[in-house]
This record gives sequence, C-alpha cells and structure tokens, in this order.
Amino acid sequence: MSGRAKWSLAQRFWAHVEIRAPNDCWPWKGCKPNAYPFFRAGTKAYHASRIAFMLWTGRWADYLRHSCDNPPCVNPGHLIESTHAENVADMVAKIRHRPHARAGRKRTDPW
Ligand SMILES: [Zn+2]
Repeated sequence: MSGRAKWSLAQRFWAHVEIRAPNDCWPWKGCKPNAYPFFRAGTKAYHASRIAFMLWTGRWADYLRHSCDNPPCVNPGHLIESTHAENVADMVAKIRHRPHARAGRKRTDPW
C-alpha cells in the first residue's frame, strides 16, 4: 500500500465527524443517538472512537472510555485510554448508582 492510502483513511474518517469547538462533543455524522459509531477500514469495522484516538495519538488503545458519556462522540479530548478492569469498574459503579437496577431481582433461595 502507498502512503496515499493512509492519508485517505484519515481524510475519510474526519469527513464523517462533525468537528466543533475543542471542548464540545464531536458527533459521528449519521450515528443513531446512544449508538457506538463504526468505521470501516478495509475488510474490518472498528469503533470510530478508537480510530479517532489512534489518528490523534498514534497509539492503538485497547479500551477507551468517554469522559462525556456520549457514545457517538469521537472528540479525542473526550477519550480516555483505560484497561478492561477499569471499564468494568466504571460500569459497575454506574449500575450501583441507579436506584432501580435491583428492583427486578427475585429472591429465589428457599430459606
Ligand atoms: Zn464528547
């Protein structure tokens, strides 16, 4: 592949993004609300936020979190590289803070 292919990937990518002020969310165009945007590169589809992070920092993050909690956002300033364990801890913390999360739980033990 030539260097031109790399360029066109970045150009193709940012063409899908609504770039706003540095601190605003940059939504992926055409993405449904609360859905994670995917970007097709070659034969694979990647999370658009991971591509944004990679183009911005030159590193490939295994897991990314949004500091803004807005899944369609791909603003690299809102993306935090994290480990899987951190992601799970974050998710668990969110579920615990939702008062109705346990409402559907049934008491199944016979004692
Ligand atoms: Zn954002």
